[in-house]
Amino acid sequence: MGYKFATKAIHAGQEADPTTGAVMTPIYQTSTYKQAAPGDHKGYEYSRGTNPTRKALEDCLAALENGKYGLAFSSGMAATDCVLRLLQPGDEVLTGDDLYGGSYRIFTKVYENYGIKFTFVDTSDVAAVAAAISPNTKLIWVETPTNPTLKLADVQAIGEVAKKAKVLYVVDNTFASPYLQNPLDLGADLVMHSVTKYIAGHSDVVMGALLMKDEELYKKLFFYYNAVGGTPGPQDSFLALRGIKTLHLRMKAHCENGRQVAAFLQHHPKVEKIYWPGFETHPGHEIAKKQMKDFGGMISIVLKGADLKETFRIASNFNVFTLAESLGGVESLINHPATMTHGSIPKETREKVGVVDNLLRISVGIEDAEDLIADLKQALS
Ligand SMILES: *Cc1c(COP(=O)(O)O)cnc(C)c1O
Repeated sequence: MGYKFATKAIHAGQEADPTTGAVMTPIYQTSTYKQAAPGDHKGYEYSRGTNPTRKALEDCLAALENGKYGLAFSSGMAATDCVLRLLQPGDEVLTGDDLYGGSYRIFTKVYENYGIKFTFVDTSDVAAVAAAISPNTKLIWVETPTNPTLKLADVQAIGEVAKKAKVLYVVDNTFASPYLQNPLDLGADLVMHSVTKYIAGHSDVVMGALLMKDEELYKKLFFYYNAVGGTPGPQDSFLALRGIKTLHLRMKAHCENGRQVAAFLQHHPKVEKIYWPGFETHPGHEIAKKQMKDFGGMISIVLKGADLKETFRIASNFNVFTLAESLGGVESLINHPATMTHGSIPKETREKVGVVDNLLRISVGIEDAEDLIADLKQALS
């Protein structure tokens, strides 16, 4: 579809319902579908594999990422799991050293047990990625910006490395959302999303997705999607579709509030270090400018001279921000990665990449920026 982002967010995959004309895609709350004769059906047989509400969502997400095919899952982790099932014992995966904690956990605690090897490199260093490729490397898994220290990987440059090595190249695009960044346009074979975050956007759904252009790849992934069955129900698919209709508006507001909150925190005496790719001093700033539409609403700060107790005190001291895991919802959240989202990563490993005990991650929501800044001011005082 040749439409622009906002039009696709509202219409892609969502024709008026053919039987009633309903403008909103109905919640097809059914597990099975009538067949006129065995095998004679309307494209839907059983809802683990296909469901019309989910199909509308998958087509919409594929359009937003400039892909052709979409698969939705009951969580981001189920989507990741589906990709990893393409591998065989002995295969190697090259991935970042600053990953979402759940991705690190499924790599090292689940798939390493099945003979898959994971190599962790700094993906903001393209030469390091190229140097770490071995004859057994079958997959490159990149997250950008990274969670929680917001390092940038050059999606296009790593795509060239992947292409040369004939390796499947996957980008976890959760932090940027399809509004800010489209990895399939920059050489990625596959985009993974935790739909739970910005895409659904209202902290009321857990869901994942895979988006791609290649039909062969789609068929392979669809096999595992249906065979394993981690697919979402129609009610959640409906909620995600409804959330997507304002994705472009929400992302603009997240970015604008992010800019104001980052500017406030930058010179605050309690802030020792701040991570936000919009600063010219951020090492990934130029890459962010090149591949992202704007800099997003995720900010991490290291508190000056705060031990774990003082960090906990500050994290628990907010009125507008909510102390909680997750990100990307309309409401502002504050998170303590070392004990919350990244608790499953060993202390030594996480501290090497900056996930220290006095680091807080902020998901800037779309409330009034003045209220957010006032809340930060009082919590930090
Ligand atoms: C949340 C998240 C995931 C996992 O998604 P779920 O929907 O929680 O299963 C994966 N990657 C990133 C970057 C995330 O933030």
